[in-house]
Amino acid sequence: VSGSSNIVKPEFQISFEDIGGQNMAISELKEALDFIINKDSICKMGIRPLKGILLSGPPGTGKTLLAKAAAKYTDSSYIATSGSEFIEMYAGVGAQRVRKLFDTAKNLAKKENKKSAIIFIDEIDILGAKRGTNDSHHEYDQTLNQLLVEMDGIKSNNDISILVIAATNRPDMLDSALLRPGRFDRQVSVDLPDKSGRLQILKIHTKNKPLDEGTNLEAIAEDTFGFSGAHLESLCNEAAILAMRDGYDKIMQEHLLEAVDKVILGEKTDRKPSE
Ligand code: ATP
Repeated sequence: VSGSSNIVKPEFQISFEDIGGQNMAISELKEALDFIINKDSICKMGIRPLKGILLSGPPGTGKTLLAKAAAKYTDSSYIATSGSEFIEMYAGVGAQRVRKLFDTAKNLAKKENKKSAIIFIDEIDILGAKRGTNDSHHEYDQTLNQLLVEMDGIKSNNDISILVIAATNRPDMLDSALLRPGRFDRQVSVDLPDKSGRLQILKIHTKNKPLDEGTNLEAIAEDTFGFSGAHLESLCNEAAILAMRDGYDKIMQEHLLEAVDKVILGEKTDRKPSE
């Protein structure tokens, strides 16, 4: 609430400092985003605008967070959707939704008085699967074609720049037309965090939680090989719940350790028996 010290950050007001263990991805992304920030000089030099960035990597590694932080970094409007939202049984509906998405992004930027808009498309592989394969059929192909048409229509001298950031766990599934120059020609890989990345993420997600002085986050980072950022966020939340259950007003090391097991167990029970 405005005026109070407890202002709720709008969900998309994420900055790069809120993202742990992705230093490489962040610096590659920032380099690409400088195209938008320096749009005028880029335009004067006759360099074609950057239209698309593809973030690829396993689930829960921070791809959505990176897209939101990109919007803050470039002072752009932000609009998010998922490949699954374009899939319809009726012919032409997906393509129509793509057109509407670009219009909505432009209108939002105008309304918010911004010079640029970022469109985030999660699970791009659903609509961008290789055309003419088993994973694609005519309706999907039309939708993908429309996305390519809209991206080809992005010009550097438009008053509002549009940048599409797409995310996928399966870059190998994508139609090569999407990866051609002038489309998603920047690819940033967003991998699982290493030990120091996990430590950074644990620090981010315990920042607003009461941690006992005797806790050792480094040991937890050591014990969580293979955990994604989403797993680590869930671990911190679980540890706070366990501490409360035990009647503590601080999180102790034993709660963090128990939370590691809970997250691992949760992963196992979420999986189908055949996996
Ligand atoms: P998916 O592929 O499943 O869509 P994603 O890569 O887009 O996943 P996010 O949605 O960005 O993942 O992450 C989910 C949540 O996990 C975030 O809201 C955040 O709480 C936590 N998280 C993930 N990665 C990080 C990170 N690198 N730093 C801090 N928190 C993270």
